[in-house]
Amino acid sequence: MNATRSGVVEKLVTKAVMERNLIEEGDRILIAASGGKDSTVMAWALSRVRPAIRKNYELAAVHIASDFCACCKKAPLEKQLAEWGISFADISVPIIGRLKPGRAMNCYWCSTQRRMELLKHAVERGFNKIALGHHLDDIIETFFMNMTAKGELSAMPILLKYRKYPVSIIRPLAFVEERQIIACAEEKGLLNAACTCPFGVNSSRKIIRARIAGFTGNSGAIKRRILRSVDRAGLLAGE
Ligand code: SF4
Repeated sequence: MNATRSGVVEKLVTKAVMERNLIEEGDRILIAASGGKDSTVMAWALSRVRPAIRKNYELAAVHIASDFCACCKKAPLEKQLAEWGISFADISVPIIGRLKPGRAMNCYWCSTQRRMELLKHAVERGFNKIALGHHLDDIIETFFMNMTAKGELSAMPILLKYRKYPVSIIRPLAFVEERQIIACAEEKGLLNAACTCPFGVNSSRKIIRARIAGFTGNSGAIKRRILRSVDRAGLLAGE
């Protein structure tokens, strides 16, 4: 590991994995691979932490394709993942097709449908962990969105054990800022399919992101202190 931009990401992912015990001996980990920078960098980093954590674990990836967005280039993604020893599967889900008559498409519906398919795929194939590519910025955005839109203090746990399913969610990028992921993807020449989804343009996440940038001045140190506060309040620990 070194002080390159990719080395920084590898170090932060290793820290999250070791500190939070995200990977245990014999784990079968399913990576939710969108083809974008976050999940691709996460897949790369998870394939790199083996020597540091000294555990045997399996990595596989699944891409959930929708009926409205075709920005992921699946063939090069599959090839890239294979180089890191990660198998690839592709599922197609009619997300708009499942909408009830009169209901409008939105991010909540989309992510719920995708999550359901992801869980189903993991449980049916015996994976015990699902790795999601949410990073530090996603986590603090969700915290402020939940507070301002729902009036509740909650965030995305770094490790969440489902009660109903034999699967846990892990977020190995929790300590990594989005700009560090972008820098890593550029340095490693990793695939970076930009999301062209027409439904995310005015999402509430984009609005809260701009507000956070306003009061933090995009300072990494301030954002890390926000994450630490959320963590100290117990909001990053799942059940
Ligand atoms: S931006 Fe598009 S792909 Fe992303 S959650 Fe929203 S609807 Fe789904």
